[in-house]
Amino acid sequence: MGKLIITLAPTGNVPTKEMNPNVPMNPADIAAQIYECWKEGAAVCHIHTRDKDGLPTSDVEANRAALEELDKYKDCDIIRQLSTGGRASKTYHERGQMICLAPDMASLATGSSNFPTRANLNDPETVSYLAGEMKKYGVKPEIEVFDSAMIDAAVRLCESGEISAPMHFNLVLGMKGSLPARAKTLFYLYESLPPGSTWGVSVIGKEHVDLSVIAMALGGHVRVGLEDNVYYSRGVLATNITLVKRMVNIAKAIGRDVATSTEAREILSLRKK
Ligand code: MG
Repeated sequence: MGKLIITLAPTGNVPTKEMNPNVPMNPADIAAQIYECWKEGAAVCHIHTRDKDGLPTSDVEANRAALEELDKYKDCDIIRQLSTGGRASKTYHERGQMICLAPDMASLATGSSNFPTRANLNDPETVSYLAGEMKKYGVKPEIEVFDSAMIDAAVRLCESGEISAPMHFNLVLGMKGSLPARAKTLFYLYESLPPGSTWGVSVIGKEHVDLSVIAMALGGHVRVGLEDNVYYSRGVLATNITLVKRMVNIAKAIGRDVATSTEAREILSLRKK
């Protein structure tokens, strides 16, 4: 079995300091936590940015600031992935504005579903626009799968040349309004993936450890971080570091080596640094 890629999602769009004071909100804190987690074994970071009031923003300057803060850690070669998620902007031009910063990767949901209190709207025009921007700047999409139809949509985009193979999928489980966090759901998605693709899971809620372990055993990768879970366990607040460390420890226990960023770059067929 290949090495395990641990992705860190430190901030997200939803968590607040009230929910968990450890959530990094400004570019310096986001970069500092990414660096600490990279030293523990995170190979990829999935970045969301916030404005001065702590609200989600896709603003290109906010994203640039986060990447520049990360640049200050000269030894850190973590793979950088920016979010194009729909909560931070209204139009698809706004959502995709940071792709011009040419990060290694950007998230791309290839269809629509629901978040707990609103729609997760990604109509075909939006998806094609974002995929086109990623292609233009040499950014590899991480296909965010909130519904099984999004796998098939990605395959069609690959067939039409809008996305290049091999694709990388993040199976998002436990988002209320989208796919439930159940083992049988994970197995179904896993069996539906196109051959030759890489994949991982991002699990929201108390099942996140169990389902991450199943993904690891199937050869998949894992994402952890306060974006997905502000609790480490029942009643215990998490930090990004404790969430990463737990995955590293589980990987050790089941005999799966953790990939460095350099190794992850190769596994994900990313351009060389
Ligand atoms: Mg995200």
